[in-house]
Amino acid sequence: MKDCYGRNIDYLRISITDKCNLRCRYCMPENGISLLNHAHILRYEEIYLFLKAAVKNGIKKVRITGGEPLTRRGIVDFVSMVRSFDKIEDIAITTNGILLPDMAKKLKNAGLDRINISLDTLDSEKYFYITRGGSLKDALLAIDKASEYFPVKINSVLIKNFNENEFDDFVLLAMKYNMQVRFIEKMPVGYGAVHFDEEYVSCEELLKKAEKISSGEPFNDGVATVYPLRKDRAAIGFITPLSHKFCTGCNKIRLTSDGKVKTCLFSQNEYDIKPYINSEEEMDKFYREIIAKKEEQHFINNKNQNQWIQNRDMNKIGG
Ligand code: SAM
Ligand code: SF4
Repeated sequence: MKDCYGRNIDYLRISITDKCNLRCRYCMPENGISLLNHAHILRYEEIYLFLKAAVKNGIKKVRITGGEPLTRRGIVDFVSMVRSFDKIEDIAITTNGILLPDMAKKLKNAGLDRINISLDTLDSEKYFYITRGGSLKDALLAIDKASEYFPVKINSVLIKNFNENEFDDFVLLAMKYNMQVRFIEKMPVGYGAVHFDEEYVSCEELLKKAEKISSGEPFNDGVATVYPLRKDRAAIGFITPLSHKFCTGCNKIRLTSDGKVKTCLFSQNEYDIKPYINSEEEMDKFYREIIAKKEEQHFINNKNQNQWIQNRDMNKIGG
């Protein structure tokens, strides 16, 4: 289904929980988070009803996220449920990977197509610091295991004076696993707005480095600009919502774990699906109405702070 600006909305990100087994500094507050009331978290059957309307109206690609999606019980069966829609061509998960080694094969059998693993540094002390307690060993094991079953991409949030100098190490990682490593500009969303001034850095310098080592012309992969390296799928990508915004090509909507649809990551607008979960017809109508309301573009940049204040931390949206 097209929105009012002619964009074909075919990509849905579903956050299935706001809980997480890590506490990344750019995502959650230091003292933990106020979790959403369990009673407000959508049941899988409720998500299914929304998904049915979404698929009927053109969704072809689904990404499951969180919080940490692998912490929610029933995730494997949920993947099978999503797979049961013939029209869904691609199912992916974004995860920190900690629980992945034991689950990778089950997820593959359930019909998962691809995995993105979040990893901001290859230094174990820095990993411990940025995740407030995580072990780099676990994340690396996750990459190893996931690569046995899936195409894997790495998401790395670029943070000033923290991981900018690890570009070469990430290139080696991309080559080792024949995968794409994508640097993401830090976004001033929820808790991400705290310390934003000190921590935001645009991808500009790393883009220049990638240009120099690239084996071919850059190409677009969703919202990422990707520079190929000398090996099949090995590549370095950049997601730059602030320095080069990509709203004109935005094909995405998001469903939060408490049942709100966000038609733009950076918008305060949210649309509650709960009043419609008892009627397929009503849900379908609701779906069409919210697509018609999708924002043309966002207005955040690294300066207009009044746009930063968001009602949700990233773990409550899903990235
Ligand atoms: N827990 C999973 C994970 O970390 O991959 C999935 C949820 S997490 C919210 C999804 C993505 O959002 C991760 O790649 C994470 O690095 C990214 N993210 C979180 N806060 C961010 C921020 N302030 N700016 C940019 N990316 C952020
Ligand atoms: Fe958890 Fe992912 Fe947020 Fe890190 S980025 S705290 S792993 S939800």
